[in-house]
Amino acid sequence: MARAIYMDNNATTPVDPVVMDIMLPYFTEKFGNAASRNHSYGWEAEEAVDIARGQIAAAINADPKEIIFTSGATESNNLALKGVAEMYREKGNHIITVQTEHKCVLDSAKYLEQHGCTVTYLPVQTDGLIDLAVLEAAITPETILISVMFANNEIGVIQPIAQIGAIARKHGVLLHTDAAQAFGKVLIDVLAQNIDLMSISGHKLYGPKGIGALYVRRKNPRVRLEAQQHGGGHERGMRSGTLYVPLIVGLGAAAERAVAEMPTESVRTLQLRERLYKNVTSRLPEVYVNGSLEHRLPGNLNISFAFVEGEALLMGLNDTVALSSGSACTSASLEPSYVLKALGVGDELAHSSLRFGIGRFNTEADVDRVSDKIVDVVTRLREMSPLWEMHQEGVDLTKVQWVAH
Ligand SMILES: *Cc1c(COP(=O)(O)O)cnc(C)c1O
Repeated sequence: MARAIYMDNNATTPVDPVVMDIMLPYFTEKFGNAASRNHSYGWEAEEAVDIARGQIAAAINADPKEIIFTSGATESNNLALKGVAEMYREKGNHIITVQTEHKCVLDSAKYLEQHGCTVTYLPVQTDGLIDLAVLEAAITPETILISVMFANNEIGVIQPIAQIGAIARKHGVLLHTDAAQAFGKVLIDVLAQNIDLMSISGHKLYGPKGIGALYVRRKNPRVRLEAQQHGGGHERGMRSGTLYVPLIVGLGAAAERAVAEMPTESVRTLQLRERLYKNVTSRLPEVYVNGSLEHRLPGNLNISFAFVEGEALLMGLNDTVALSSGSACTSASLEPSYVLKALGVGDELAHSSLRFGIGRFNTEADVDRVSDKIVDVVTRLREMSPLWEMHQEGVDLTKVQWVAH
């Protein structure tokens, strides 16, 4: 039997074969320690790391010296929040973030709350965007950091980072953004957008897992961080540990490729998403989009199917397509996604939501096959649903008095 079509590219992506070929020699013959200063093995590794740093910096209009390698966006987010909170303690103890952030930002913020910080968790509007006036009103003389994700991992919604950057700058507050989803998919310019710290991850952009980076601004203002991992003083003392050269080479190559491919790839994945959306909504009623369709990553579609049970829906689709319901991170529990809750999506619709992440290796044929299957499964499930039958008969289900037996 053919394997299911992979449409969960917001959870992770395969390593692009072009990237893999560039990485491979660094596992074997070019295995040097980038910190070895006395021989060609070390120099070769150091040179490869320098190239990767340059590729990542070029992708975001940064200086290579501003790129700190980490194990991924989780570590980068931890380092940004905790590193700033500890370093700027004397300046203030207030941090502003958003209810729809990735768990690693929210949990770092919670940790800091237990260690003397005050955190404001901004709400989002029904389209998933923050209200800039609410953000600005939340800033106090104690505020040291605003952390707002560039693009959301569940609903793909892109926040107005340049405008947020302008507000942060006006008030002399640092701006961190978790760009794990946005990096390589939309244009990022840390200077134009006034970003002071930014987290990225290799495996969301066709690079390897276990590698990421934190951009840390060095000028206007120079951002300082308290290290969270101590040791040999690698990465300007901000993140000690022997550099994982093959993965760093992979992240650099993946970044360069993503930027080069962005003009065509973003158009192509957007067309595929629009095709999927049209295929499904032209044949099924009562389908709802979660989050703004306009301010959104090109390949992401998060939709809910009324009168369908989420688990049954996923089970019915499993053989054909690999995707997530609600969130990859919360789908193990029966709690509906906190991101959808923050948008005000009701529990029923949150439970029947699917996240499609269309990526570099998906085709039109994939989209058509997946849409056909969705229409089949949803139609079949609704035919078995008494609620759907009542809805078809014109019963307003919100007005029904349910009686327990
Ligand atoms: C995947 C992801 C992370 C975590 O990245 P890792 O590199 O897997 O640690 C953080 N934030 C967002 C928005 C993500 O999508």
